[in-house]
Amino acid sequence: MNRKIIVIGSGFSSLSASCYLAKKGFEVCLYEKNNTVGGRARQLTKEGFTFDMGPSWYWMPDIFDKFFADFGKKTSDYYQLDKLDPAYKIFFDDDVITIGDSLDKIATEFERIEKGSSLHLKSFIQQAQENYDIAINKVVLRPGLSPFELVTPETVARVDQFFKTISGEVRKKFKNPKLVSTLEFPVLFLGAKPSKTPSFYNFMNYADFGLGTWHPKGGMYEIIKAMKSLAEELGVKINTNSPITKIVVEEGKTKGVICHGELKTADVVLSGADYHHSETLLDVQYRQYSEKYWDTKTFAPSSLLFYVGFDKKLKGVEHHNLFFDTDFELHAQEIYDTPKWPKDPLFYANFPSITDSSMAPEGCETAFFLVPIATNLEDTPELRAQYFDLILKRFQEKTNQNIEKNIIFKESFCVNDFIEEYNSYKGNAYGLANTLTQTAFLRPKLKSKKVTNLFFTGQLTVPGPGVPPALISGKLVADLIEKNN
Ligand SMILES: Cc1cc2nc3c(=O)[nH]c(=O)nc-3n(C[C@H](O)[C@H](O)[C@H](O)COP(=O)(O)OP(=O)(O)OC[C@H]3O[C@@H](n4cnc5c(N)ncnc54)[C@H](O)[C@@H]3O)c2cc1C
Repeated sequence: MNRKIIVIGSGFSSLSASCYLAKKGFEVCLYEKNNTVGGRARQLTKEGFTFDMGPSWYWMPDIFDKFFADFGKKTSDYYQLDKLDPAYKIFFDDDVITIGDSLDKIATEFERIEKGSSLHLKSFIQQAQENYDIAINKVVLRPGLSPFELVTPETVARVDQFFKTISGEVRKKFKNPKLVSTLEFPVLFLGAKPSKTPSFYNFMNYADFGLGTWHPKGGMYEIIKAMKSLAEELGVKINTNSPITKIVVEEGKTKGVICHGELKTADVVLSGADYHHSETLLDVQYRQYSEKYWDTKTFAPSSLLFYVGFDKKLKGVEHHNLFFDTDFELHAQEIYDTPKWPKDPLFYANFPSITDSSMAPEGCETAFFLVPIATNLEDTPELRAQYFDLILKRFQEKTNQNIEKNIIFKESFCVNDFIEEYNSYKGNAYGLANTLTQTAFLRPKLKSKKVTNLFFTGQLTVPGPGVPPALISGKLVADLIEKNN
């Protein structure tokens, strides 16, 4: 057995893979370029405020439970999980929709907006639940090696759902545009437009309305801390401030990596850094995918992010808030079809200190604002400032309060930071989108076709973007490495 494995990166997928590999008896050494672990899920703390820098929605709690159960642990061994009620609020131009913590509450809200819609909602979520069971228990656990992995009696019976889109199916059942946007929101996590996302992916609607929105006390970084501590318990050696500058290959086999100018030898190398970047660490003849290949793929959006400390509590908002008071379709076009800074963007505002007092000093509010934008856009301090003013103005108008003078500090993060901090391709925030032609075996492969002992994991490979898929990606690649060694 080839025992020594080097893992590049410390995002959710690398930490997950490291834990599984250590449990299988491999000697695992992880190298992270930044000074803390967590990748896109790092934490910012400032003046008593705590910010999750990336993910903030804890969805699919069953996947986290399964991850820790694989090591004889429970999430509660590491962090306290609370179900949010309301889960979130959506601000539209002329109304606010509140998503409660049960399907009955949500159905009542739907009925208020559109008579008769609650019945459609229940049947829609019933179908979404069936798809969730198939997706999570069957499809998603396959390593994306062959098209036949997708062929199960259940998927064959639903083959039409791979060719219809979420957008089309939602519009057949719901007429009110606000309900349509509400039901299209969850698939945005998959990184593509709802009109390009197969309707089979409505399992995300079950994740949303069926399983609910949760919050680990202290923030999402508590999960990273938990996984780091589990990895260390299992014997994983974690090195931060350790950028890998080369994956060394001789005669089609990797010998290890170069870190701080030194060769670190290994029997297997696994990279959880962005797939495109990982391949640039190889000599050209060992790369599987050309620049043209990456350039023609649909990437998930980038984001303009603001981390803001307020010196007072805010009114009329919840832990999670979506501002869908502008044209959803136009903003989506500006992300995917004609990439440019959006004219009138939708945005997301997160105030974790509303439900978790540990995240801000007393009487203060921790705020995170996110504007989804196209990848590779020009990113300047002036543009960031212009968009901050724009969203703050809209926020104040929609929530009827003046908060400009209550800002203690604000930090921003955008395309240039994604590239610089994470080696992200074109500054994407959450990987390669899940579209019909970028699903399962059609995604970049977990195992290199050109270097026998080189593997990849993370949001650019299978199953795709998001924290739960990153946990699964780590498991899939660990199983594949075991099989190949
Ligand atoms: C703003 C934002 C909001 C999001 N919101 C949500 C959400 O609410 N819920 C959800 O489920 N998901 C969300 N996501 C997606 C989720 O965060 C990601 O899918 C997931 O964290 C990706 O994990 P990963 O391991 O694939 O990659 P990463 O987290 O990017 O990890 C890759 C790691 O590799 C390191 N690295 C890169 N190059 C090198 C090198 N040469 N040497 C050493 N190390 C290197 C990087 O520093 C990084 O630590 C969000 C993402 C962002 C950015």
